[in-house]
Amino acid sequence: EKIDKSVTRRYLFNVDQNQKSERQAKGWLRLRDVSRNNLKHVDADFPIGVLTSVTGISGSGKSSLISQALVELVLEKLGQQIPGTDDQEDQLLQAENPKTTTGYIQEGISHIRRLIPVDQKPIGRTPRSNLATYTGLFDHIRKLFANTKIAKSRKYDAGRFSFNVAKGRCPKCEGEGFVMVELLFLPSVYTPCPVCHGSRYNEKTLE
Ligand SMILES: [Zn+2]
Repeated sequence: EKIDKSVTRRYLFNVDQNQKSERQAKGWLRLRDVSRNNLKHVDADFPIGVLTSVTGISGSGKSSLISQALVELVLEKLGQQIPGTDDQEDQLLQAENPKTTTGYIQEGISHIRRLIPVDQKPIGRTPRSNLATYTGLFDHIRKLFANTKIAKSRKYDAGRFSFNVAKGRCPKCEGEGFVMVELLFLPSVYTPCPVCHGSRYNEKTLE
């Protein structure tokens, strides 16, 4: 405890004076009378503007409530399309269980402009896409890179920092960061690219 400079210590002994205060919800999304799969006439309130997690034992209906009912009700209210699924298993499930969510949003939809469902499924066919490219966040990151002094002095534009454009990416894996290894009797596996070691850019871009 004598080492004042230790950052870890501040957390271990809870002496940090600058601890961040909890964010307050700026509103509530209130779902009412939701029925879906095992859920029967459930009311649920979600704070808005904060990170929220939903927990419960297996089979208690977390996915039915969040991934299905909440997504469908909110998308419907926003007039967004419910994203199609290209997963064959999902399609089978949906064919067996056509949309059966009932319920309504009592309050809170005015706080929501857009809903982006994110799950564990791979985005697209290759590891090229990630959460950042998917949500549009990466556009900003590319511009930040391109705005650095060194990038400007070399006339690197935002495209240089795209994995989909040849000039900035690693030539070996073509910006994927992984190379596919075909195995004779097993499904192909991906392994980190031996040239860029997964960074996905070529050496010049990384400098
Ligand atoms: Zn590579």
